[in-house]
Amino acid sequence: MKILETIDSVRTFIKKNRDDKSIIGFVPTMGALHEGHLSLINTGKKTCDIVVASIFVNPLQFNDVNDLMLYPRTPEKDIEMLEKAGCDMVFMPSTEEMYPEKPELIYPLGNIEMKLEGRFRPGHFQGVANVVDRLFQIVEPDKAYFGIKDYQQVLIIMKMCEVTNSRVEIVPCPTLREFDGLAMSSRNARLTTEQRAGAGIIYQTLAQVPEMIRTMDIPTLKDWVENRINNTPFMQLEYFEIADPETLDPIVAVSPEKKMGLFIAVFCGKVRLIDNLFFIS
Ligand code: AMP
Repeated sequence: MKILETIDSVRTFIKKNRDDKSIIGFVPTMGALHEGHLSLINTGKKTCDIVVASIFVNPLQFNDVNDLMLYPRTPEKDIEMLEKAGCDMVFMPSTEEMYPEKPELIYPLGNIEMKLEGRFRPGHFQGVANVVDRLFQIVEPDKAYFGIKDYQQVLIIMKMCEVTNSRVEIVPCPTLREFDGLAMSSRNARLTTEQRAGAGIIYQTLAQVPEMIRTMDIPTLKDWVENRINNTPFMQLEYFEIADPETLDPIVAVSPEKKMGLFIAVFCGKVRLIDNLFFIS
């Protein structure tokens, strides 16, 4: 596996490896890799001739300086994992390489930008759109793989591709989970043993909602979720929303055969975790 740090070396690598028929797959990450990230590489390997990853902790998408400072960084282990997974090249740029100048954040991302995560993380999705656009221009992949663990991010990237006329095909991939249902996340590494022991409650609570919603109205259900999370040691609910998976508009009443998305953000101590689940009523 090639390990490259400059934009020029990535362009040279891509040029050398691309012939008319080769399909290039791309998996952008912020490192501190886990099985969830590797599942994206594996999915890419099934349909692409070359799979490329990037590791870059993008300062533009952090609205909290402490979160950026404390974000786990494990570059040696990441390289080993990518190599084992059969990744062909990893791009690990410095911040100066990616952003020699302060970029303008001006993507018209529409209504979804300010919903759910957008309400609590101002500027976050502009930062995401900018870095992914920039990475797409450097790597010029045919397909790019993203986890639906960050579902709203997938919608934002699809919108970014639409407004930039990008030809990259966005491939959403399922969420990998730990034994107790907790969605795998780089931030899980920051949990203490006690916090980690309780964190399974997030997914376990979501998983009960499709059944509970048959017997409860939505406000009562939301209270039930809030109490369940907040009564677990170290856990504090930031939001729980039942929303339309396409528009992210809140669903206020259940109707038959409706596709619904459950979206949650929880502070586990100081570590902010998100998850989601989809079902049809
Ligand atoms: P990150 O390093 O957190 O920016 O994530 C890089 C990519 O991995 C994003 O597309 C994430 O949605 C995806 N990802 C993160 N966690 C998981 C997971 N548990 N299962 C599948 N994909 C994931």
